[in-house]
Amino acid sequence: MTTWTDLSATRPITLSGDSGIDRAAHHRLDEAWLAAAWSHPSTRVFVVSGGQVLVDDTPDGRTELVMTPAFEAPVTETHRYFLGQDADGIAYFALQKDTLPGRMDQSARPAGLREAGPLLSPRDAGLLVHAVALENWQRLHRFCSRCGERTVVAAAGHIRRCPACGAEHYPRTDPAVIMLVTDMADRALLGRQMHWPEGRFSTLAGFVEPGESIEQAVRREVAEETGVTVGDVEYVASQPWPFPSSLMLGFMARATSEEIRVDGEEIHEARWFSREELTAAFASGEVLPPTGISIAARLLELWYGEPLPQGR
Ligand SMILES: [Zn+2]
Repeated sequence: MTTWTDLSATRPITLSGDSGIDRAAHHRLDEAWLAAAWSHPSTRVFVVSGGQVLVDDTPDGRTELVMTPAFEAPVTETHRYFLGQDADGIAYFALQKDTLPGRMDQSARPAGLREAGPLLSPRDAGLLVHAVALENWQRLHRFCSRCGERTVVAAAGHIRRCPACGAEHYPRTDPAVIMLVTDMADRALLGRQMHWPEGRFSTLAGFVEPGESIEQAVRREVAEETGVTVGDVEYVASQPWPFPSSLMLGFMARATSEEIRVDGEEIHEARWFSREELTAAFASGEVLPPTGISIAARLLELWYGEPLPQGR
C-alpha cells in the first residue's frame, strides 16, 4: 500500500531533505580538533545575525550562502557554531554576530530562511536552518532555568553550561502538529487565522501540549479550532521550523464529523473544499495560492494531486 509518506518523497520538502552534511557531533567537545578545523584553509564560515545571512547569486543562476575561509571571518570565539562536515571533509562553521559583514560585491544581499530557503541548495539550506535554530536557542536561553545564573556556551554552540549550579542546557525543539483534515467525501478542511489577509486559507496547526501524544494533539487542535472530530491520523513528513524553535510534524487526518464551529480566536473562518471548489476558488482569487516554504503547502498539494498554483 502506498502511504502519504511514500507520496511525499516524490517531491522534497524544503529544509527536510538530506543536506549532505554530517553534523559530526563527536567533535563538538574536542577543542583541539575544533581549533585545527577552524584554521584549516578549506573550512567555510558564514555569519548569522538575527536570522539573517548574506546570500549571493552565482554566474549560472543559483543562489548560495556567502562563505569565506576562517581567516577572513570576523572571529568571536564564544559565538562560533560548528555545523558539521561534508563528504570531502570540509568543515562548516557559523559565526553569530550583532551585524552582518559588509557586502563583498553588488549582488550579495541579506536574506532570512523564509526567503533564501527555497533558493539555496540542500547543503546551504541545511547549514542555514541549523545555524538559525542555534542562534534562536542561544538568544532565548542566556540564563540558567534552574538557578537563574548567566550561562556560557560550550560544545561549539550546542550546549549552554551554568557556572553556578553545573547544569547543562541543550537546544530545545518544540513539537508542533500541522494537518490536512479530509472528510468522507475527500474534501479538505482549510482555515483562516485572525490576522491573515482575506483569502488566505491553510491547513490547521498547533503545538503539542505537555503529556500529550502527537495524535492526541492533532485531534485536540482540530476540535478546538473548528469543532470537527478526527479519527484516523497518518504521519506524512516533518520540517524544521526555527521560528523560533519548532519542529513541524505533518499529518493527514480523517474527519468523523463535518459541522464546523470555529473558535473565533485562532481561527476566524474554516471551510470544506472539494478539489473542484478549490481550483475554482484559486482561479477566481477567492482563495490565495499558498506561498513560502512551509510544509502546509506540500500537505495540501499531496491531497490535491498535482502542483498548486504558485502564490506571490
Ligand atoms: Zn544554574
